[in-house]
Amino acid sequence: MDQFQQNPNPTEQTMQGKYMPMTSVASGLLQQIAQDVYSYTVQIVNIAIIDLHDGFVLIDAGMPESGTTIISTIKDQFGEDRKPIAIILTHGHFDHIGGLEELLNHWDVPVYAHKLELPFLTGQINYPEPDGTVEGGLVAKLSPTFPHNGINLKGKVEALPDDGTIPVLQEWRYVHTPGHSPGHISLFRESDRTLIAGDAFVTVKQDSLYKVLVQKQELHGPPRYLTTDWQAAWDSVKELATLKPEVAITGHGLPMAGEELKTGLGKLAQNFGETEIPDYGKYV
Ligand SMILES: [Zn+2]
Ligand SMILES: [Zn+2]
Repeated sequence: MDQFQQNPNPTEQTMQGKYMPMTSVASGLLQQIAQDVYSYTVQIVNIAIIDLHDGFVLIDAGMPESGTTIISTIKDQFGEDRKPIAIILTHGHFDHIGGLEELLNHWDVPVYAHKLELPFLTGQINYPEPDGTVEGGLVAKLSPTFPHNGINLKGKVEALPDDGTIPVLQEWRYVHTPGHSPGHISLFRESDRTLIAGDAFVTVKQDSLYKVLVQKQELHGPPRYLTTDWQAAWDSVKELATLKPEVAITGHGLPMAGEELKTGLGKLAQNFGETEIPDYGKYV
């Protein structure tokens, strides 16, 4: 874990004031992808909302400074008095926890993450610096300006059980899908084969600014500039392909379903070494 730095000043980390002026055409889009599952795009990242009868569960927490928008969208859509039961993090990168402080100030709910992600979420260590030298487009080049400090949710974040169950979501289980980050998880529901994949794979070429802004749909491995273990990332994609999901919400890009997803994911798992692992970069 050499690439992870000890965080010298754990309590100082915050996403406040880190707004990033990068917004895709899909920003603000709320899409229903299963009877009770929604994808909501916050600038260039997606959060998932699972609607339970007595509340809902949020998967991830969007870009920095997006908390207020997330709260008002949920209130508009689901009603003023609806509250989340919990927030589950696929991983702790800045674009997945950016709105979390604001959300937790508004809703005092538990946050769950994989135990290997907890050191980044409790202020112990920082994520490695995004790699601006990795093979890729303009987003990769800009990535060294992205925040990579761990945040401190001590007392608010709990480890998910080791057996793959999720305390607040009986029908779902999580799959440990490391590579993009050590404690990255994906969520899967067997009954309708719905997958929430985080950044284990994405449906847009995330290092290309143009493709991100117009949300051109194509299946790819995890965002390159933040992925530190490519072999593990490949194994994770292989494992997700064996689940044969019917529909997937990914951390970036538009939701994908049906044959396009199944065939595409199979191909991605097969060709990952050639098409996804960058030819050069700090973590290759
Ligand atoms: Zn990420
Ligand atoms: Zn991401």
